[in-house]
Amino acid sequence: KVETVDHPRPPARLGQVGLRVKSVIAVGSGKGGVGKSTVAASLALSLRQMGSRVGLMDADVYGPSIPHLLGLSGRPAVNAQKKIEPIMLSDDSGQPPMPVISMGFLVEPDQAVIWRGPMLHGSINQFLGDTNWGELDYLVIDMPPGTGDVALTLSQAVPLAGSVVVCTPQEVALLDAIKAISMFHKVNIPILGMVENMSGFMCPDCGKTYDIFGRGGARAKAEELNVPFLGSLPIDIDLRTGGDEGQLAKVLAENTRSRIPIEAAAKSL
Ligand code: ADP
Repeated sequence: KVETVDHPRPPARLGQVGLRVKSVIAVGSGKGGVGKSTVAASLALSLRQMGSRVGLMDADVYGPSIPHLLGLSGRPAVNAQKKIEPIMLSDDSGQPPMPVISMGFLVEPDQAVIWRGPMLHGSINQFLGDTNWGELDYLVIDMPPGTGDVALTLSQAVPLAGSVVVCTPQEVALLDAIKAISMFHKVNIPILGMVENMSGFMCPDCGKTYDIFGRGGARAKAEELNVPFLGSLPIDIDLRTGGDEGQLAKVLAENTRSRIPIEAAAKSL
């Protein structure tokens, strides 16, 4: 069993790295491909839609997919204060542009990056402290799946409000999610809750729901582990095509099926 500790939310303060943010939220998963980046981007957009100032940091340095999902590109400039200028997501949501930083903006898309521990540590700290985030209510961080290197670096650099763990409902994925939860615990990052992604598919033709990967496994596991369950997101073709076409923000704005569970999760953070 995972022990949950009642962690008070860290007070608004300048982090050691000079970040002006009220809450830093890490989105993690036990393994890749479960929709962690999709959920991280969706959470950031939902929090922003609720009127908060939000930044999105893609710390999944091994497979930075946030730029692709949101259709963002370009090289971040360095300003006169030697701070990296994030790439801004502007859309017609009526909200101010959202700053985004990702290793994907700094390396060629088909280039593999071989990371050594100190380099990883350095780049995460740079993303946190040397980026011109401005003043934020939330910084949502898309973590690399699995291992604890980046989580450890983060926990040392800034006070984290906590982590959201994304998983799919099948048993093997849940086993990996438990490892992710235990990894966050080891580095003293509280667990804000679990999100079940790809939970059931509603056939648009017949209206019948197919539980392709099962359903409800994450909720049951969350109860067992005594961590909050934040909600489930169905398998949604629009979400997949939206992500592939760099239109995730647009799809979420238009599609209530996928938006609502994430909105509910964001409200509970
Ligand atoms: P991860 O960050 O865990 O590797 P991604 O967020 O990159 O996963 O998602 C992997 C793929 O699955 C992407 O093509 C994404 O568009 C798709 N995807 C994620 N969640 C859903 C969903 N609920 N329904 C349909 N496709 C999804």
